[in-house]
Amino acid sequence: MRMLQRTGMRRPLAALLLALGLLLSGCGLGQQPHISLGEVPAYSGAPYVELDGNQPAFTEADMEAEPFESYAPLDLLGRCGTAYACLSPELMPEEERGSIGQVKPTGWHTVRYDFVDGQYLYNRCHLIGYQLSGENANERNLITGTRYLNVEGMLPFEEQVADYIRETGGRVLYRVTPIFEGNDLLAAGVEIEALSVGDAGEGVCFHVYCYNVQPGVEIDYATGDSRPAEAASADEGGAVQYVLNTRSKRFHRPDCASVDDISPSNRQDYTGSREALTARGYKPCGSCAP
Ligand SMILES: [Zn+2]
Repeated sequence: MRMLQRTGMRRPLAALLLALGLLLSGCGLGQQPHISLGEVPAYSGAPYVELDGNQPAFTEADMEAEPFESYAPLDLLGRCGTAYACLSPELMPEEERGSIGQVKPTGWHTVRYDFVDGQYLYNRCHLIGYQLSGENANERNLITGTRYLNVEGMLPFEEQVADYIRETGGRVLYRVTPIFEGNDLLAAGVEIEALSVGDAGEGVCFHVYCYNVQPGVEIDYATGDSRPAEAASADEGGAVQYVLNTRSKRFHRPDCASVDDISPSNRQDYTGSREALTARGYKPCGSCAP
């Protein structure tokens, strides 16, 4: 009895240590290490950049593969790993895609911005697009991606591959890896490699990194939280809260005693820079010295 109890205690501990080790090493089960973010230039207006001279890193053995598809298990934070397939016409779906709304990938938020195409900031992005392998609501194949990543970043590459397979009936090695920084729940971007096998890459050959960004939105990759970029830059530009007396043209700190004496008709709460206020002719209160 005592022995049983002891082993019962040790096993979870061993599992926990193993789990921690995997977590800290940053490698999920069954995942090979891929590019690190240090190798990728910062986003500068284009939805993707080429990596390694646009050459994918498939091996000779990869190129002899029969059609297959594999999806790495979710890691301990519930994040997707590499999705890898040797795509061929027989893997392509014949049915329309069904609902995927029940899958909640890490970093998921249902949030809208008027200026985003389709309004929703985030889409459930297939790592290997539905049109290529027919994988629908597979949680190992869906990440939280911006509309921009989905449509401007990944879709053109996916369509290039789909067109090639439809037109030639040939096979394409296709490997998609979401890249997370540390323990972030939202991927910083997605690495995509593709190579048409039968013609040694004549038809399809690329190795790119697509940015999981949305122009006009500032994203916290640790959580997936977001806010309009204007609000972010206003903060950085020194936006502060003041209380204005629109009659005397003085401005105060919100906690200034004089604020209580301002008649409601002359009082205005203001958030913005001090410079903008003084440019409008406002002078700082002498007692709270804002
Ligand atoms: Zn004051």
